Amino acid sequence: MGARRQLSVIDSVIIHHAETPNGHVFTAEQIDQWHEARHFERDMSICPGYSPLKHIGYHYVIELDGTIQRGRPLEEVGAHTYGKNPKSIGICLIGMDKFALVQWRQLLKLIQSLDDKLATSLAVYGHNQFSPKTCPGFNVPAWISRKFRPLDQHILEGDFHGVV
Ligand SMILES: [Zn+2]
Repeated sequence: MGARRQLSVIDSVIIHHAETPNGHVFTAEQIDQWHEARHFERDMSICPGYSPLKHIGYHYVIELDGTIQRGRPLEEVGAHTYGKNPKSIGICLIGMDKFALVQWRQLLKLIQSLDDKLATSLAVYGHNQFSPKTCPGFNVPAWISRKFRPLDQHILEGDFHGVV
């Protein structure tokens, strides 16, 4: 179960992908169900009413239309990156390795707003920097060094292409 933490311990953001087909709509509620199947449990007594999702391991999900959905509150340790959960914030992008421009914009806005809220400069990593995985489907250090401009190969053609 996600333990309570002080916001002052948070030093980083770790970016993930949902590993869902590019351009297809999936929701934070679905991720919550997948995490329920993996027996993730939240501590709903931390920030009661913050989010109805009882299992999700991420703090935020950025859906295909750019909507930022709340998962765990920042005060609750996430379940997303082995060994790195206590001090990090987990953000998950819906998709595989191509994301809508609006998702890219929202990702950057979210990180900036977290920096402001926590009055710090959070380090930003991809899950694959801590684990032999492809997650989040792009090279986060390269994205940072490009001043947060995504490579064309990681931009979904037409923000809603393929959406049903
Ligand atoms: Zn991941």
